[in-house]
Amino acid sequence: MLVNDDIDALSRAVSGPVALPDSPAFAEETFAFNVATVHRPDVVLGAADAQDVAAAVKWAAERRLPVSVQSTGHGAESAIDGGLLINTRRLQDLQIDPGERTARVGAGVKWRTVLEASVPHGLLGLHGSSTDVGVVGYTLGGGLPVLGRAHGFAADHVRSMEIVTADGALRRIDADAEAELFALMRGGKGNLGIVTALEFSLFPFSDFYGGGIIYPGADAATVLAAFRRWLPTLPEDASPSVSLLRLPDMDFVPEPLRNQFVVHLRFAFLGNREAGDALLAPMRAVSTPLMDTAGPMSYLDVDQIHMDPADPLPFMDGGALLKDFGEETVADLLELTGEGSDCPLLLVEVRPLGGALARTAAMPDALPDAVSGRDAAFLLFLVGFNIPPLAEAVSASIGGILAAMAPHSTGYTLVNFHGAPGDEADRARAWSPAVYERMRSAKSTYDPGNLLRFGHAITGAPAAG
Ligand SMILES: Cc1cc2nc3c(=O)[nH]c(=O)nc-3n(C[C@H](O)[C@H](O)[C@H](O)COP(=O)(O)OP(=O)(O)OC[C@H]3O[C@@H](n4cnc5c(N)ncnc54)[C@H](O)[C@@H]3O)c2cc1C
Repeated sequence: MLVNDDIDALSRAVSGPVALPDSPAFAEETFAFNVATVHRPDVVLGAADAQDVAAAVKWAAERRLPVSVQSTGHGAESAIDGGLLINTRRLQDLQIDPGERTARVGAGVKWRTVLEASVPHGLLGLHGSSTDVGVVGYTLGGGLPVLGRAHGFAADHVRSMEIVTADGALRRIDADAEAELFALMRGGKGNLGIVTALEFSLFPFSDFYGGGIIYPGADAATVLAAFRRWLPTLPEDASPSVSLLRLPDMDFVPEPLRNQFVVHLRFAFLGNREAGDALLAPMRAVSTPLMDTAGPMSYLDVDQIHMDPADPLPFMDGGALLKDFGEETVADLLELTGEGSDCPLLLVEVRPLGGALARTAAMPDALPDAVSGRDAAFLLFLVGFNIPPLAEAVSASIGGILAAMAPHSTGYTLVNFHGAPGDEADRARAWSPAVYERMRSAKSTYDPGNLLRFGHAITGAPAAG
């Protein structure tokens, strides 16, 4: 149990604010984008810099207090109970090097901030469907980008990181310095340390074409069948996805679509209007769209492709990697989630993988990173509101759909799309067995006291002998 002297010692060791559950700043420092998740650590630190993170971890290690980390709370899948929570949102360093095509960000930087600085140089980063997400949490979970088929996972393109390990040491790691730790942090989530800064590659682009087509839900079978046939015709520079949406009557939904069941085709393409229109033509002919926003766009409008909610919401989710999206898979998914079903979910999404996502890390001298899913063809992702009394039906629906789709799944997940972490066997499904064993071994080296044990946590391998 923490006593006043402990808290005083932490406050003396750091320059950022320290808040206890009964202090006014506690709610703000623990707030998560997923408002269904209410964290209750024993104490929270709003880290002001990397030294604060190191000092706080050292302080916690001396007291054997577990440590968790949050930046935006987009990944708040389960509540943190007890221990020290380090909030990194104040770590806002951002450097873009247009010549080297790199960005270096502090652990609190969101993707939108990176793009606002990089796009004027004709450079993009490998962000996901919402640029409100934190760069570090996203990338440590692999980071499945909007343009993933063109460039691969975000984790594949990390150049270096600054990280505080469970002993409180601040290290700079890369493909040469602590290569195995560096490899496993890229896709291993926050299991082996707390990242204070990340350096990664940016990619040049000129034309960008993107947007979405929204079809009536009644046409779901026709649209998904066409989508399936259309995919093999696309170049890797095109990354589409499709979702079945049961849209609520809420501000983030365009007015004409509120309370409707629709199919949403999303399309991101590194090309001009002529080429983009030609690629999309078969999908435009499939059914009469309710809305079609696809065309040349400013890269800074990239959030309009997926139209994810920008404001905090209470949600729960779950996902699976699929072997295929063949006729049988589509039919099974539609039976569970299509028009005639009683599916209560807000979003049932299918993202094609493949292309550069299927290839191993681009850095020539890097060890294979911890990202899973290179052998999968599609990601299935399910999201519903976590609001009582709907929450019970949503949870049952996510579980039921994933169980029914299991024959079509590889059995693995992507950690960023895994949903709430379950028991150890469930958490292990976010990595291949080989990577999982490497992570267990590294956990024994870098975090033998299991200080970092929240969320998608793994436990170390028992010591040899
Ligand atoms: C609207 C929305 C859209 C999304 N789209 C995509 C997408 O397209 N592709 C994709 O791959 N993912 C996507 N995600 C998932 C997202 O990448 C994960 O939820 C990610 O964990 C969010 O990171 P964060 O730092 O913003 O969130 P946080 O909740 O602050 O952090 C989540 C977890 O990341 C780890 N973490 C965060 N910071 C650190 C750190 N400094 N050091 C060590 N570990 C850390 C911790 O385990 C922490 O619990 C999306 C999520 C949402 C809500």
